[in-house]
Amino acid sequence: MKELYLVRYGEIGLKGKNRKFFENRLTANIKRTLQTVARCKVYQTHSRNFVAVLDGDPAEVLNRLTQIFGIVSISPVAIASLELEAIKLVALREFAAVARPGLRFKVETRRANKQFPLKSPEVSREVGAYLLAGLADLVVDVRTPEAVLEVEIRENDAYLYTQTIPGPGGLPVGVAGKGLLLLSGGIDSPVAGWLALKRGVTLEAVHFYSHPFTSERAKEKVFDLCRELTRFGGKIKLHLVHFTEIQTELRLKTPERLTITLMRRMMLRIAERLAEKQGALALITGESLGQVASQTMESINVIERVTTMPVFRPLIALDKTEIVTLAQRIGTYPISIRPYEDCCTIFLPEFPVTRPQLAEVEAAEAVLEIEALIANSLAKTETIQYGSAL
Ligand code: ATP
Ligand code: MG
Repeated sequence: MKELYLVRYGEIGLKGKNRKFFENRLTANIKRTLQTVARCKVYQTHSRNFVAVLDGDPAEVLNRLTQIFGIVSISPVAIASLELEAIKLVALREFAAVARPGLRFKVETRRANKQFPLKSPEVSREVGAYLLAGLADLVVDVRTPEAVLEVEIRENDAYLYTQTIPGPGGLPVGVAGKGLLLLSGGIDSPVAGWLALKRGVTLEAVHFYSHPFTSERAKEKVFDLCRELTRFGGKIKLHLVHFTEIQTELRLKTPERLTITLMRRMMLRIAERLAEKQGALALITGESLGQVASQTMESINVIERVTTMPVFRPLIALDKTEIVTLAQRIGTYPISIRPYEDCCTIFLPEFPVTRPQLAEVEAAEAVLEIEALIANSLAKTETIQYGSAL
């Protein structure tokens, strides 16, 4: 494993000031993420980003780089000075690691530095011939190669690599404004949070719990989920909202079949207040259209009426199996399936309404002291900080 990585980022259309902002954010995020992994030097030269591993496990550094939003791909590279002989020697050394008898290969050269005396095809030919001479039984195949040695001739050096590993793409966390994630202990909302992070959103999270109806274990699940998300999102503030009085009131004073709808409306109201206070510009939920009774279009419509803040639902079009696959990939799945009840499952009505009517829901709420309930919950809210700032 080599100890220098070339890191590429994408998103066409990034220009001028925006580009600088994006690049600086990405560099800062990479530095911050790797801080706890290994001693690294993170630097840019001529619009190329490099991570040099000075001390530590390069494989773990690579693993972490593949999780940083904004990174499109990563290549372990070797550097050669700008002379053909030096390039050949480094090429031989690098390619020896992948070569085997019968391997179909080609050399692909890009010459960004037009001062370099040889043209790209000439470099490829020279280097290819050198590899053929130096390594046994290679076969040149420019159409269907099994291995490609890439040679990039840049201003001060040449870079050589054979491998390109995909990154997660997206935008660097911190370039898109703040969102408040409604984080339950379930499978969906952590994935929704991850997708928001993917678009550069800075996350805070809010969790509603109903002590003593929900256990400490249920809360721990949410703590652990938050911690997992910090691997992608740096610092995440978690707001824990005491929801017991509200649920009790709903149970005592409103029709059971509307419980879920009314509960969600209360959650959104409280989340909106918190978001305003924290400077968040949108709420984010793990809802997916049609997944359960509270996620029919009619339900979503009636629930969202209580807020004027945008509600992002990154999972809206995903099937459960797709969500599960993502949850497994990002590492939240094993935490989400721990069997502790959350506040929604506890008071789940036997026959929840799937097509609530706004008028009926508003009439049911008329008996509640909504403002007092919100104020009471907010007053009891605790905030915990996870991770370090990106
Ligand atoms: P999840 O797997 O995220 O719990 P779900 O499919 O179980 O989702 P619901 O329980 O209907 O769906 O919840 C829909 C969304 O409402 C969740 O994705 C989450 O964003 C939010 N939510 C539900 N319960 C809570 C809670 N206790 N605290 C914070 N947000 C919640
Ligand atoms: Mg849930």
